[in-house]
Amino acid sequence: MNKKIIVLFRNDLRLDDHPALWHAANTGAILPLYIQNDQLPEQDSAQHFWTYYSLQNLQITFSNYDMQLILQKGDVISQVLQLALDTQADAVYFNERFSETERSEDEHLANILRANDIEVKAFYGDTLFDVTSIRNQQNKPYAIFTSFYKRCLQELARKPLGRPANMQAFPMNVSSLALEQLQLLNGNWYNKFHNYWRPGMDGALDQWELFIEGGLYDYKDKRDYLTKETISKMSPFIAAGNISIRFLWTTCQELIEVEDNAAFGQQVESFLRQLIWREFSIYQLLSYPSFSTISLRSNFQHFEWEPNSLHLVAWKKGQTGYPLVDAGMRELWETGYMHNRVRMVVASFLVKHLLQPWQEGYSWFEHTLLDFNAANNAMGWQWVSGTGIDSAPYFRIFNPSLQGEKFDLDGTYIKKWVPELANLPSKYINAPHTAPAAILEQAHITLGDTYPLPIVDHKTARARALKRYNAIKKATGTEDKKVLD
Ligand SMILES: Cc1cc2nc3c(=O)[nH]c(=O)nc-3n(C[C@H](O)[C@H](O)[C@H](O)COP(=O)(O)OP(=O)(O)OC[C@H]3O[C@@H](n4cnc5c(N)ncnc54)[C@H](O)[C@@H]3O)c2cc1C
Repeated sequence: MNKKIIVLFRNDLRLDDHPALWHAANTGAILPLYIQNDQLPEQDSAQHFWTYYSLQNLQITFSNYDMQLILQKGDVISQVLQLALDTQADAVYFNERFSETERSEDEHLANILRANDIEVKAFYGDTLFDVTSIRNQQNKPYAIFTSFYKRCLQELARKPLGRPANMQAFPMNVSSLALEQLQLLNGNWYNKFHNYWRPGMDGALDQWELFIEGGLYDYKDKRDYLTKETISKMSPFIAAGNISIRFLWTTCQELIEVEDNAAFGQQVESFLRQLIWREFSIYQLLSYPSFSTISLRSNFQHFEWEPNSLHLVAWKKGQTGYPLVDAGMRELWETGYMHNRVRMVVASFLVKHLLQPWQEGYSWFEHTLLDFNAANNAMGWQWVSGTGIDSAPYFRIFNPSLQGEKFDLDGTYIKKWVPELANLPSKYINAPHTAPAAILEQAHITLGDTYPLPIVDHKTARARALKRYNAIKKATGTEDKKVLD
């Protein structure tokens, strides 16, 4: 007899290369299930927008196969168990997740189901490699990205599984909530995201095609420039699992082979390297479960931060008086996304110029980023803050004005997101407070009124940050002690 298998969908909202779905479809009849966990603290994050429309897309796609995606809300463990018992399911399949909370929830769920004689199978759905098996010669996790990267290149990436050829539904009526009843979209903040994104599997494929026909060809050379459309903008699709990372990897490998052109190969390899940064962040989250909350370098436990709610709010609202920082923070609020180069600049500014703990930035990004995921976000913040294992040294303090001059050549990016500076000549766009009074007047700018004066002076803030850093170096006598050696 065919097995009856419940397949859980979480951050893998797709049908293609979904190992749990693929194996379930090849083993028996399936019941696809999504449960909105209402116990989570972040109930109004930008990601809810993405989840809502990804689920809508998934529902429609399943209905093309005469199948229904069951939606529920509440405590995940009790709901899965209840549904499995009610439907007399033989098994529950899901893809593994990586954060400590998610892993402990999955373990708990598996124990309870097994105690009720229900089979449980977990699959690797979200990485290119089996990262848990990647260890250095001392059988420890790699601490340096380059070594991890070289090691990954010796491994064979998993091949994507494609979409199951046949899917057969449970012959049973199971009631489902309507998508609206998940109450994912509270408030108006989300509406504007429609101007920039089309979440779900179909949107993911369109975005991917756009990138491989355009940006990929210049990716290595131009990815840092803020107005050149050379980056993929695949991150929100990847975070929700609308598209499989192995599919992206394999497509790129095939393109390298077909084009057989060394210059093109270099551009693509640079993109593939970014996908391995993502693997590295998952690897670190698995190796150090407190990665998203605690500085990995233990000497930072003695660092004297300077919590200041006014500065924090100015940063969040894009009102710091540093145009590139403000442009990035406003782009984030408007679109749920920010360019990687600007993420580094705004993060460095928060942690080093303003001396706010990086965890404050992590939380704001968790709330506002459509592509938020614990692994990448923790790695980003710990890298910039100098607190991570393989991170930028603390004393590398970005000068926001110089970063703007370098990567937003004529100020187009700033003018787009900080429109009150639109009439300022490009020469002053990164530092309006240095513009002569007549020029400011001509540009209709009154500093301190229509646009803020810098909330800290760059040179003073830089010197202050370095002094604080030297203090922990003196106190601990080391720069690179790690919490979890
Ligand atoms: C402070 C900070 C916080 C960040 N938080 C997140 C986050 O929550 N979620 C997130 O996906 N990325 C995060 N990043 C990494 C990076 O900024 C984004 O992945 C990238 O900007 C997404 O845009 P893209 O898809 O166009 O990237 P592309 O340049 O086109 O890269 C393709 C893919 O590679 C991966 N990737 C690229 N850069 C990185 C990186 N530095 N680290 C890990 N993976 C990478 C992503 O999956 C990305 O979608 C953060 C970076 C910083 C500095």
